[in-house]
Amino acid sequence: MTYHPWVRSAAQAVILVGALAAVAAAQERARDRRRYIAPGQVTTDDPRRVPAPATPRGPDGVTVLRGGRVFDGTGAPARAATVVLERNRIARIVAPNVQDWPRDARVIDVTGKTVLPGLIDLHTHLTYIEPPISTTEDVADQDAALRGAERLRYFVESGITSVRDVASTGNAPFVLKRWVDRNAIPGPRVFAAGQLITGRGGHGADGREIALDGSVIERTGADAWRLAVRDLFSRGADVIKVASHFSKEEVKAAVDEAHALGLKVTCDCETFYIQWAVEAGVDMIEHPLPRSDETIRLMAEKGTEADPTIYVYTYFFGRFGGGYFGSTSRRFHFGDSLNVDVLRRMKAAGIKMGIGTDLIVDWFRSLPHPYINELKYFTLVGYSVPEALIAATRTNAELLDMDDKLGTLEPGKLADILVVNGRPDESLDDLAKVDLVLRDGWLVVEGGRVVVPRHQPTDAPPIWRPKP
Ligand SMILES: [Zn+2]
Repeated sequence: MTYHPWVRSAAQAVILVGALAAVAAAQERARDRRRYIAPGQVTTDDPRRVPAPATPRGPDGVTVLRGGRVFDGTGAPARAATVVLERNRIARIVAPNVQDWPRDARVIDVTGKTVLPGLIDLHTHLTYIEPPISTTEDVADQDAALRGAERLRYFVESGITSVRDVASTGNAPFVLKRWVDRNAIPGPRVFAAGQLITGRGGHGADGREIALDGSVIERTGADAWRLAVRDLFSRGADVIKVASHFSKEEVKAAVDEAHALGLKVTCDCETFYIQWAVEAGVDMIEHPLPRSDETIRLMAEKGTEADPTIYVYTYFFGRFGGGYFGSTSRRFHFGDSLNVDVLRRMKAAGIKMGIGTDLIVDWFRSLPHPYINELKYFTLVGYSVPEALIAATRTNAELLDMDDKLGTLEPGKLADILVVNGRPDESLDDLAKVDLVLRDGWLVVEGGRVVVPRHQPTDAPPIWRPKP
């Protein structure tokens, strides 16, 4: 047995092995509840994977996208192919000359267009208020739900078929999720955190200019953080979001409780809080906020993922300047070049990174450009254009813990599909030329705009008539 030169004694080697074992133990992730489900059993599309009856989903019959070039998100180059959907699933992808669908199939000609997996946005706030702020109406839950419904249209018209909402008002994110799930309102799938958990006066609860009323849970003490996780889970959370500041004990308690419930944890924090969060076992770090080389090394070692949200800070720097001094947890300078440098260092370390926009106030009104610009930042640090698209689709599905169902165009996956008038795998700007969007098999966007089919009246009881 040979040791690295700096291991000078067997005793030191034992310490090293112990440390590595500790790292391996700490790497335990959210428990995969699928382990307890019999093979072949049908489950819902909820990441908690609660077994559910096999009710058919999506539209009746077969839909065919014929004549396009298919960028399937697996890493294969785009190719001419036809995509055949059955209800809400991809049934098969066949060569252009194959025609093996039923006569009554809905065949859509996408000649000259590119068919790719629906985009995923890992960081939204569907209900944060727009200026002018702080009116009674704006903080009402009813208004929050309607704000979210409006924003869902902007996202889905941008080719985004799933969003992970990492803090919104009250029950609005869960309500929005259910209404999209029933195909009752147009929009992307919503994977919701509910509210973020932070310490007293922490991020989002620190008297900032942008009020986050109803989107933040302030708790003190490990037990209180644990209970906050359970409360969010019981209300339907798909993921847990924590934010600085916190103690080591608080973040560890939240991570352990979430993982036991099968949920991943993502963290919005900075500087030494990132180190604490990674040590505690969080699954993902949001934003490009300051962190040390040691922390980046630990993230890579433990497989901690990242959702850098670089582009949104370009808005911030235009409006607020290059610093964060709002609370005891957030006191540091940053700027565009520093943010890109963090992105570059994380890529060099081999950290798995996804795409999120974090659009607050009225910035969602710029969509799809913020999403496309986030992808461009990825290409600035060495991702090829196809690699950036894969980060937006396959990798984002992995980060959502939904890669068995979303993120690539492959038989058996859910039919979340984007068709663009162009070649986005060659030019990211072509992503703005959205033609069609299908979510769960439903055609939600056609000709670049949301389409809402006319309602089909159900049977109504006949009117009463007097007896002759
Ligand atoms: Zn955010």
